[in-house]
Amino acid sequence: MKVLVFCEAKESLKEAGKLVLSDSSKELLKFSIKNVGAENVSAFILGENLASSLEEIKSIGPAKVYSLDSLSVKIFSSDIYKAKLEEAFLKESANLIFASHSPDTETVLAILAAKLETNIATDCLGFDFNEKSVLRSMYSNKLSLKSSLAEGKASFISFRPNSIHIEEEISGTNTEIISLEADSAEARIKCIEFKAAASKEPSLTEAAIIISGGRAMGNSENFSILRELAGKIGAAVGASRAAVDSGYAPHSMQVGQTGKVVSPNLYIASGISGAIQHFAGMGSSKVIVAINTDKDAPILKKADYAIIGDLFEVIPALSALL
Ligand SMILES: Cc1cc2nc3c(=O)[nH]c(=O)nc-3n(C[C@H](O)[C@H](O)[C@H](O)COP(=O)(O)OP(=O)(O)OC[C@H]3O[C@@H](n4cnc5c(N)ncnc54)[C@H](O)[C@@H]3O)c2cc1C
Repeated sequence: MKVLVFCEAKESLKEAGKLVLSDSSKELLKFSIKNVGAENVSAFILGENLASSLEEIKSIGPAKVYSLDSLSVKIFSSDIYKAKLEEAFLKESANLIFASHSPDTETVLAILAAKLETNIATDCLGFDFNEKSVLRSMYSNKLSLKSSLAEGKASFISFRPNSIHIEEEISGTNTEIISLEADSAEARIKCIEFKAAASKEPSLTEAAIIISGGRAMGNSENFSILRELAGKIGAAVGASRAAVDSGYAPHSMQVGQTGKVVSPNLYIASGISGAIQHFAGMGSSKVIVAINTDKDAPILKKADYAIIGDLFEVIPALSALL
C-alpha cells in the first residue's frame, strides 16, 4: 500500500519569517512509515522558502518528497494545489492520500476525489490499515463512527490535527526530492505579496494545549490573564461563542460547532459552562480541565479535572505557580 502525505509548512513560533513543517504533517509521515514502511511513503509539499521543511521531511525519511517552492503557491489556490496533488498522486500510483484536516485540504481533496472517483473521508480521528476503515466522531462527539472504505479504490483521508500519536522513534530512508513545475497549472487567484499576522501563539487547531475563556471573562482585556498563562505553557488561547458574541474575542478564536474543531492533549475551559455546541469543538481533547465557580456546570460532567473557583483567582495563581 502506497501513501502520499500532503504536508504543510507553518510559520515558526521561535524564529520570525521561518517556515517549519507542521506537527500534524510530521505525525502523518511517521504514522504512514510505521504502518507501510518508508519505501512506500511519499510526501507532498507546496509553499515558498521550503528549505527547512524539506530538511525536516528528510529527517523523518519517506522515500520521496514532491515539492514546489514558489511564491505562486504561498497562499492556497485550489487550482494549483489540485493540479500538483493530482500529478504527484498519479506519478506515485498511491493508494492513499493523508492530509491534516483544514478548509484548504478539505477543498482540494474533495475536488480531486470527485474528479478521480476515489473514496474520501474527512476530519477522521484514526485509520486502520488492516481493516481499511476510518474512525470519525459524530453528532458533536456523542458517537464514534467506524466506516470501511470501498474496496478497489484509492482513498483520500484528512485527519483532525493531534488525533494521531506516535511516541516511538521512526527510522525512515534516504529521501529523494522531486521538484514540481509551477507553470503547468493556471491559478485564478495569484499571490502577489504575503503579510503574515505577527503571532507568537501556536495555531488553535494545531496547539497541543489550549486555554479558552467564556462569558465569565467579562471583557477583552481580561483575556490577558489567559494569554499570560498560555505563554508559560506554550498554549493557544480560544474562546466560547458567548465570549465572541460579547466582543471579548475575535471569531478566529471561537471553539465549537460554529467555530474551530480542536483536539489538543490538554484543554482548559475557563468560565465556560460546557454547552453541547462548545463541546462539539473540543470534545475529542485528551484531557479536559474546567475552571468554574458552579460545581453543577455541565462542563464538569465532561471534564477530567475541575477547579471549583473564581477564574480571576485561579488563573493568576496557576501562572504564578508555573
Ligand atoms: C447553532 C448554535 C451554534 C453554536 N455554536 C457555538 C460554538 O461554536 N461555540 C460555543 O462555545 N458556543 C456555541 N453556541 C452557544 C452555546 O449554546 C452557549 O451559549 C455558549 O457556549 C455559552 O458560552 P459560555 O459557556 O462562555 O457562557 P455561559 O453558558 O454563560 O457560561 C459561563 C460559565 O462561567 C461560569 N462562571 C461565571 N463566573 C465565573 C468566574 N468568575 N470564574 C469561573 N467561572 C465562572 C458560570 O458558572 C458558567 O458556567 C452555539 C449555539 C447555537 C444555537
